[in-house]
Order: sequence, then C-alpha cells, then structure tokens
Amino acid sequence: MRKKIVAGNWKMNLNKEEAYLLFNNLQSKSFPNDVMVIIAPPSIYLDSFSGATNIYISSQDVSGNENGAYTGEFSSQMLSSLDIKYSIVGHSERRQYHNESDDLIFQKTKMLIQQNISPLFCCGESFNERENKNHYNIVKSQLHNILNNLNASDFEKIIIAYEPVWAIGTGLTADSSDAQNMHSFIRGLVKENFGNKIADNLSILYGGSCKPSNSKELFSMEDIDGGLIGGASLDSNSFESIINSF
Ligand code: PGA
Repeated sequence: MRKKIVAGNWKMNLNKEEAYLLFNNLQSKSFPNDVMVIIAPPSIYLDSFSGATNIYISSQDVSGNENGAYTGEFSSQMLSSLDIKYSIVGHSERRQYHNESDDLIFQKTKMLIQQNISPLFCCGESFNERENKNHYNIVKSQLHNILNNLNASDFEKIIIAYEPVWAIGTGLTADSSDAQNMHSFIRGLVKENFGNKIADNLSILYGGSCKPSNSKELFSMEDIDGGLIGGASLDSNSFESIINSF
C-alpha cells in the first residue's frame, strides 16, 4: 500500500520566531496514523527542527555538487548529517527563477539518493503548455531522467509531486478529474518502466493552491496520494485540516 503524504513547503517565509511558533503548533497536534506529515522550512532553520516525533523534516532544495567552492549552496551530505530524510527537488520556482534544467535537477536527485534522502520530485506544465494541450508531453519529458536513468531500487526512494505551474500560489486549482488524469498518466509511465508493484507503491502528490476547501475532493481521487502545500501550510489550522481530509 502506498503512503498518504501531506508536505508543507514554507518557501521563503517566516522569521525565526514565526517559524518556531508554527513548528511548535504543529508538533502539539496529533495527526492520523496513516498520513505522513512533512514540512520543508527554509534551509536556515532545518537543524532547529530536528527531533520532531509527528512530523518529518524536508529540505526545499539541495546542491547538484558534492562539496567545494559553491558559495551559498549546501550538499546532500550536509542534509544527511542533520538526519534529514526528504528534500524537494525541481520545484517550478527553482526551474523558473534559477533556470534549473532537467539535467541539473537529475544531478540533484542523484545526490539525494546517494545519501538515502527521498527526493520530492516536482513536475508540472505552464498555463500555455496546457492551453496548447502539450501538458502530458511536458510532464513526460520532465520525468524522463528519473524514469530512464535510475535503477528500480533508487527510483523507489522517489515521491512525485505534480504541480501545474499555473495553479501555484494563484488560487487556481486543477480540476480534480484533470489532476487525477495526470496522476494516472504518471503512474502509467512508471508502470511501463518499472512494473506494477513499484508504480502501485509510488506516492504522487498534488500541489497548486491546495487548501482545506478542495483537499478532500482532490485526495479522494484514486491516484492522488496527498499534497504538496504552499500557502496553506503557513497556517497550522489550515494545514491540519488538509492533513485530516483523506
Ligand atoms: P501553493 O504552492 O499551495 O501556495 O499554490 C504549492 C507549491 O508551490 O508547492
């Protein structure tokens, strides 16, 4: 049975005091046993939040390099030394504002896997790509490297997040059936490459303006196994209600 997962991506929000307050609020809650809860705080706070018992901690990114003269970056080895087990990789904001290519994202993915850190691998099309009915091709090309250049046991560490770019932070959400169709398409690709068992065990999260008012419907879809939540993860009550909406 695949895992249900709700992950909160705090992005570049919250000062230290606010971050602690949110973290402590979340830590005091009890979440359903069958839902894995992950938060991805800004990297500067990562070490402060180790040791939580009901929440896993994720990085928002990682370097594609092992170590050395890369000012401002941090490596998968460093994450591992903090006992971090998850990292977002290939978020559309990294692709868009930092020009991250599929090849760099794959390099980062391999760095994480090497350290036994599960990549939360993001994919998703832009508004124009959907308008031009090119969304399936785009997502397939974003997944090409992990589908074709990883072995099965490495691929099994991956969690996929489908996040249509036009739905991120805009208040627009993919229709639950459109999202389901894309998730089922992704699972189909994984099946072709790695077989039924690995495809059935893969958690595929939806992201893009997911909030308490739409999470129940999205999570009721057969191939949607949870969410990657941005804005709504900054409020502990909203995040909790999303976690409770399976
Ligand atoms: P959003 O962000 O929920 O604010 O749309 C989701 C994400 O970018 O991970």
